[in-house]
Amino acid sequence: MNALYFTEEHELFRKSFQDFLQKEVVPHIDKWEKSGTIERFIWKKFGEMGYFGLNQPEEYGGMNLDIFYTVIFLEELQKINSGGFAAAMWAHAYLAMTHVNKEGDDAIKKKYLTPSIEGDKIGCLCITEPFGGSDVAGMRSTAIKKGDKYILNGSKTFITNGVYSDYLVVAVKTDPDKGNKGMSIFIVDRETPGISASKLDKLGWRASDTAEIAFDDVEIPAENLMGEEGKGFSYIMQHFALERLIMGINAHARAEYALDYTLGYMGEREAFGRTIDKFQALRHSVADMASEVEMNKEFNYSIAKRLNDGQYVVKEASMSKLLSTKMADKVIYDCLQMLGGYGYMEDYPLARMFRDSRLGPIGGGTSEILREIIAKMVIDKKEYKPAAK
Ligand SMILES: Cc1cc2nc3c(=O)[nH]c(=O)nc-3n(C[C@H](O)[C@H](O)[C@H](O)COP(=O)(O)OP(=O)(O)OC[C@H]3O[C@@H](n4cnc5c(N)ncnc54)[C@H](O)[C@@H]3O)c2cc1C
Repeated sequence: MNALYFTEEHELFRKSFQDFLQKEVVPHIDKWEKSGTIERFIWKKFGEMGYFGLNQPEEYGGMNLDIFYTVIFLEELQKINSGGFAAAMWAHAYLAMTHVNKEGDDAIKKKYLTPSIEGDKIGCLCITEPFGGSDVAGMRSTAIKKGDKYILNGSKTFITNGVYSDYLVVAVKTDPDKGNKGMSIFIVDRETPGISASKLDKLGWRASDTAEIAFDDVEIPAENLMGEEGKGFSYIMQHFALERLIMGINAHARAEYALDYTLGYMGEREAFGRTIDKFQALRHSVADMASEVEMNKEFNYSIAKRLNDGQYVVKEASMSKLLSTKMADKVIYDCLQMLGGYGYMEDYPLARMFRDSRLGPIGGGTSEILREIIAKMVIDKKEYKPAAK
């Protein structure tokens, strides 16, 4: 236990969450990886255990706990080896629900946040569009005001939980002439006429549903606008800090899991009359990997602490995602090598990890975009400020 950040209570939570995952989730993972569908009962169980409300306000049913409970939630989800299952859970709890909590009014929170915490409603966050995901400000979907409604048209793609969720948190242009200052966020019921979603086939994250979504004259009541009209872009940017740190934490956790598994394997597998963990070439590779995992983990913990203390760590969170996802890809690649042919087999965990990890440097801001942001802050001294409430 790292006593700088974790208490006995945190560790008790870690143990009980590990037990829960082993008992309730792990027996179903292979089935969900094959079907690409996570059965509804497990969402409800997560809700009953309070796992969707760790950082949410108590008045809506959450537990308002510090960020290190979230860190544990994320880390342990990575260690059951289904990037897709983990993504479905954290995209609901930390992408969709973050907007509902931070920008939704009391009526929206009662209608969507409480059932989300209880596991009765699943959410997704729709930002990326088919014409280009990196250029968020260039999005083309619109919601134009007409009386007491907005009429939503456009399309989104690569949306996690995009087919099976009950509501969609959607970023659109309410004033297309104003660029990123004309963007707003809405919460949209799945049942609203004019929404269609189709599932995409993909390399990894196979247990999660990833969708392309079309909006065709979808009528949204004006009260479903979240926060202020025209502030959508700054809300998105603000939450990107948490999202990117989450992806950094996920990366150090899956790399750590891959390395732990590989060390166990190396201690048993023999070649040339000794276990392979005695070969110097492999030992040095392990030493490099262990060092990189540890450095990334410590950095991510320190940024989590600063975020918890209310600091706007957008630069550091971008650095976390950039370097931790790169590190995880490399560690998992090298761990797979340690297993020889078995690393390539589906019966061993590294094959799935290899596929799942590849999304790290792409989703939620590609490494190239992160370098752009970091370069602007480091070279041009650009300052990103949090959106005013
Ligand atoms: C499995 C999965 C789940 C996802 N879940 C969600 C979700 O829940 N919600 C959501 O909104 N999105 C989601 N995404 C979308 C993801 O965030 C985008 O794929 C990502 O932001 C990149 O956008 P793009 O795919 O359109 O790539 P593009 O923007 O087309 O980029 C293509 C390439 O060009 C590079 N590039 C673009 N602009 C620049 C530049 N200025 N300088 C240098 N290089 C550049 C990129 O880095 C990339 O290598 C998901 C994606 C996947 C694959």
